[in-house]
Amino acid sequence: MADKRDYYEILGVNRSATPEEIKKAYRQMARKHHPDVNKDDPNATEKFKEINEAYEVLSDQQKRAAYDQFGHDAFDPNQGAGGFGGFGGFGGFDINDMGGGFGDIFDMIFGNGQTGRRRRTGPQRGADREIRMEVSFEDAVFGTEKDFQLPRMETCDKCSGSGAEPGSSIKTCPQCKGTGQMKTVQNTPFGRFETARTCTMCHGEGKTIEKPCSACHGTGKVRKNRTINIRIPAGIDTGSRLRIQGEGEQGAYGGPPGDLYISVVVRPHSMFKREGYNLICNMAIDFVQAALGAEIDIPLLGGAEHTLVIPEGTQPGDVITVRGKGIPHLHSHRTGDLRVIINVKIPTKMTKRQKELLNNFYEGSESKANKKGIIDRFKDAMG
Ligand SMILES: [Zn+2]
Ligand SMILES: [Zn+2]
Repeated sequence: MADKRDYYEILGVNRSATPEEIKKAYRQMARKHHPDVNKDDPNATEKFKEINEAYEVLSDQQKRAAYDQFGHDAFDPNQGAGGFGGFGGFGGFDINDMGGGFGDIFDMIFGNGQTGRRRRTGPQRGADREIRMEVSFEDAVFGTEKDFQLPRMETCDKCSGSGAEPGSSIKTCPQCKGTGQMKTVQNTPFGRFETARTCTMCHGEGKTIEKPCSACHGTGKVRKNRTINIRIPAGIDTGSRLRIQGEGEQGAYGGPPGDLYISVVVRPHSMFKREGYNLICNMAIDFVQAALGAEIDIPLLGGAEHTLVIPEGTQPGDVITVRGKGIPHLHSHRTGDLRVIINVKIPTKMTKRQKELLNNFYEGSESKANKKGIIDRFKDAMG
């Protein structure tokens, strides 16, 4: 997709062009580059196609908005059913603070997942939608359930989806005579070739609207907020994907709606880290506690407390495991462990009395003798 030309450039208009200017530019370009009048140019058909594609996007308010924000990626057919599988264009949002502004992005991204030609035959399933959701570390560990508002495009009540202002008429498209397609006949040395394209006037619908519905501007769809209840299972982690059936885009021609996929991103915690289903935390104890052993109350994730037993002679970097105080497994009844990594604080300021006591401890300990032994052995080795 990277080598695709900019749609505005193709039509020779600037980015702030009005719909009228775009239409005018399209007509001029289409006339100029029509394959019938450029029979000597082998690239004419390609160029004409490019012009039509650019116009199809820029003449549609929603597609144009999506294109303005995401460029050609907005219509990348490789990105899943809705055309918007990736997250490139929009940042994460917090389930707790879905603001009003978010809806606009949704419209752009999801309001018009359909690209290319529309099939008029049979019911069409709605596009899937995918959103990214940030959850707190605690909510990911313990699970939670939340309602949130998610806008989606739904059938306009005023015109029942026809796009025509009530009372006005819907006419058969004069350009394609209701077929939704335009046929071009080319006579070549090899015979007569007939190519069919989606009608540019009715975009393949076969009908044109006399007066567009004022509520949906003729699109037949309006954005509505839906309240969706999302249950976040305990033990979920970044990269987990939740599927909520039927909350994707509405189907067309009586088709079922698509599904909503929620990609979970877990926010980091100030104290705890996660390794698989184990919780990891660091704790500093002082050297006397490490040497003599101690019992220390530590906070657990979620607010409870636990008395951690520090064994005598604990070394810096030792890990104390508290069984079953980690993260519940997503698909079983097991729970991971809490692992406390011990750091030992060495005092940097001591009173005279404390230093005396430590010196006395040192005199009485084996380490002094050991140290001497090492030096002697070293001297012996040097010969
Ligand atoms: Zn309407
Ligand atoms: Zn038509």
